[in-house]
Order: sequence, then C-alpha cells, then structure tokens
Amino acid sequence: MHYRAIVANLLRFIRETMMRQPLVLGNWKMNGSIALASELIQSIGAGIDDKMSCEIGICVPFVYLNVANLNVQGSKISIGAQTVSEYPPGAYTGEISAEMLSDLKCKWVLIGHSERRQYFNETDEQLVLKVKVSQKEGLTPVFCIGETEKERQDNKTFEVIERQLKELLSDKSIDFNNIVLAYEPVWAIGTGLSATPEEAQVVHAYIRNLLATKVPEKAQTTRILYGGSVNAGNAQTLLNQQDIDGGLIGGASLNAEAFLTICRHAK
Ligand code: PEP
Repeated sequence: MHYRAIVANLLRFIRETMMRQPLVLGNWKMNGSIALASELIQSIGAGIDDKMSCEIGICVPFVYLNVANLNVQGSKISIGAQTVSEYPPGAYTGEISAEMLSDLKCKWVLIGHSERRQYFNETDEQLVLKVKVSQKEGLTPVFCIGETEKERQDNKTFEVIERQLKELLSDKSIDFNNIVLAYEPVWAIGTGLSATPEEAQVVHAYIRNLLATKVPEKAQTTRILYGGSVNAGNAQTLLNQQDIDGGLIGGASLNAEAFLTICRHAK
C-alpha cells in the first residue's frame, strides 16, 4: 500500500477509535425503592465532576423510571430500562412498549441480558425485534451477549458470541449508528469473578472483527461494553483495554461511591 494511504488509514483508525466515548451504564436489576432511587441518583449526580469523560446512564426497574427522571434533572445522567416488549402498544397485558419508554424519556434499553435469556427464554429472533422497535422510538438498545461457564469450558465462547450476533448483524434494517453491544460472560455476572482484562479484550476484539466483516463502516465506531463483576478495584485495568468502551455495572451500581469510581476509570 502507498505510504499516504497507510497514513490516511491510520489517521482514520485513530479518529474513529477516539469517537467511541466511554459509557458506564448501571443496571439495578430488580432492586430499589422510591426512596433509594431518588437518594442513589442524587448521590451519583452530586459526585460527577468535570474530569469524568464518560457518558453515564442508569437502567432502573420500570416502576422507578419516573422518579429516576425527576432526580437526574440538571445532571449528566441519562436513564434506561432493562427490557422492552417487542410488540406495539395494544392488548399485551403486563408488557411495556418502546413508545412508553420513549414517553418516559428513556435513552437506553437493555436487550438480551443473560437473565432475560435464561429465566424468560428470550430468543435471538425476539431480541432483534426488540432492537428494531426500540430504535424506531429513538431509544438506544444495549444488546447483551455472553457465554455460560460450560460453554467457555467447552471452548465455545466465540461460537456462542457469533450465534448470538448472527441475526442482528445480518438484518439490514438495524441502525448501527444507534446501538451499543455489551459482552457479559454469564459466569462473571454477579459472581464476583470478573473476566481478566486480557480475557475480556480477546472477546471484545473478536466482536469488533465480526462487526468489521458484517458492517465494516461501523466496526470502529460501535461501542462494546464489558459487564460481569466490575467493581471499584478492577475497573481501571478492564476499562483501559483497547476494545472495551465502558462497562455495564450490576451490583456496584447500587453503591454511589463504587459506581462513581468506575466512572472515573472510564476514560
Ligand atoms: C449485570 O447485571 O449486567 C452485571 C454485569 O452484574 P454484576 O456487575 O453484578 O456482575
């Protein structure tokens, strides 16, 4: 390749990599109360300083979206939900539509968290529908993938990741300008046993390569978060990896100090 072309490619790579502003997203799961939602969000909001360069979001249970919204006013925290119905508004008792989340000023919606896949049998096809309805309503889907302990032991990590992303990456109607991926090894979620930074980086690089094959122009701009027992102590090395663009934080997001420390490390 000509010298100039090499330099141009290198500059483009650097520019695109720098375009990936880190994102730290809390996932409260099925925890909280009205009082906790307001206290915790206020404490996090008060602790955010100008040196934090990451984007910060918190995904709360549906019933606390409203109180969360009231308490993020004036801070840089954005609010998200933890799942969404794949159906339009109508006769689906108990479901929450993307329209409703948008009405509640949600920015993010987690889709395909392993707990949804595992306990509620959500399928890859169903999850892609959820991505589409969310994008249609202006929400940013955070699409979660990751292998179980058994799959890792059987050397099936890459195979599983590829399978979980297949439907998403081959659907031409998905807007890759408005999606975040989250690699969350199931064995690391809520166990206190995080992937090592090296283990996580290898899988993130693999995911970015898959993006490069299927949606080449978006490979360097799509953010890929790591999730699985991230805490104040291990965040720095995990979030410093080249292809890790922030974290999806469960347990530690219920503690303002721990969550803020993680945010400080997401540079
Ligand atoms: C999660 O809920 O997505 C998660 C990563 O949980 P934890 O940080 O507690 O492992």
